[in-house]
Amino acid sequence: MTIQVSTTDARTARALELLATADRWLKITSKTDGRRYYVVPGSNGRVYWARPDACSCPDATHRGATCKHMVATALYVAKVNAERQPKRKASKRAPSFTRDASIGGTIAAPERARLVALADSIWGVDGE
Ligand SMILES: [Zn+2]
Repeated sequence: MTIQVSTTDARTARALELLATADRWLKITSKTDGRRYYVVPGSNGRVYWARPDACSCPDATHRGATCKHMVATALYVAKVNAERQPKRKASKRAPSFTRDASIGGTIAAPERARLVALADSIWGVDGE
């Protein structure tokens, strides 16, 4: 499992902060597209609907960036999946992340698709 987190990359640092609040995230299913999202806290008391491949925050919707919320949900999905399969070798099952210098940190499309599938497969097994 390779996740690059840089102390000089504010986005990944904030994603880790968000990850620490994961026990308070709500899980919702969008009536619009039928997809599942985590409700994660944003700045100024806002909340955003986030999943590893999408987020309702301005960073993602207006700038098309892989925002901290998407990174945080991707990390959370990987964490829950790792905890769920303790007998399997994490090094072969856990997702890795690659960085795209053009937007300062993103999740490569194949990895993102796998994380989305993982997110769907863990739905309902992480305590709710
Ligand atoms: Zn976001």
